[in-house]
Amino acid sequence: MGLSIECHEVLELLEHPKDQLYLDTEVVIIGNGPAGLALSTFLSGWQPYYNPCGPHPDEQLHSRLVENFDRSLLEKDLSWYEEEFAERIPPNIRPQSHLYDWLVRPDEANSNPPQTSSNCLKMVYEPEKTVPHVVLGDTAIGGSWNTYDDEMVTVSLSHWMDLPGFSISDWLGGKPLLSRLPAVVIRKYMRAYVKRMHLNKHMRPFTKVTHLE
Ligand SMILES: Cc1cc2nc3c(=O)[nH]c(=O)nc-3n(C[C@H](O)[C@H](O)[C@H](O)COP(=O)(O)OP(=O)(O)OC[C@H]3O[C@@H](n4cnc5c(N)ncnc54)[C@H](O)[C@@H]3O)c2cc1C
Repeated sequence: MGLSIECHEVLELLEHPKDQLYLDTEVVIIGNGPAGLALSTFLSGWQPYYNPCGPHPDEQLHSRLVENFDRSLLEKDLSWYEEEFAERIPPNIRPQSHLYDWLVRPDEANSNPPQTSSNCLKMVYEPEKTVPHVVLGDTAIGGSWNTYDDEMVTVSLSHWMDLPGFSISDWLGGKPLLSRLPAVVIRKYMRAYVKRMHLNKHMRPFTKVTHLE
């Protein structure tokens, strides 16, 4: 695939040619917001596993996932989820997204009152599963969050803003004092996330894709 780009700034973390990009990679992600960062994490070899020690409070889900729990969820057939849990999945939410949320926050999916259940998803680093990739974004790391006013607080509760493998609480060393954090904090968290998950080498911020062929 050929890519034309405009590179507005030289990335501080890495040395890149200013106006040209030569890519030898398998996956190109356009956009360095939360979605691009999370995808980069998974492509960097971080694999999500069901943690049977939780266990998940929903017995039916637990019994499904405890089968072959030593296999990454990315390598399991999860097609049953959409049909078996159809009543739980709100319209316009993809089944995979709903399953992820329900595993990370077992008591909070479908807006149930928050409880203190543990995360049923375990992230394991398996470097042999790394897929070569690059993340291009026309802003600094954080995508659209770079365009929000610093003081604008999130609609979501802070822990709903967590990215896989390194939560906001992990970053702050404890639960945030505010239930909803301002955009400036979310931006800083995403930059810290990239460093913590060693994603720097995949990131090309301030790079706009102008042409694909
Ligand atoms: C006021 C406001 C408040 C919000 N509050 C919340 C909240 O509390 N919780 C929540 O979950 N969501 C919230 N959102 C939504 C949130 O911003 C998005 O859900 C989130 O940023 C989407 O992440 P993303 O990675 O998919 O895309 P984005 O963060 O939008 O990142 C995509 C990036 O790709 C870039 N891009 C596009 N085309 C190209 C190209 N050709 N070349 C290079 N780069 C390109 C874009 O400029 C953008 O920076 C809010 C949105 C707004 C406007």
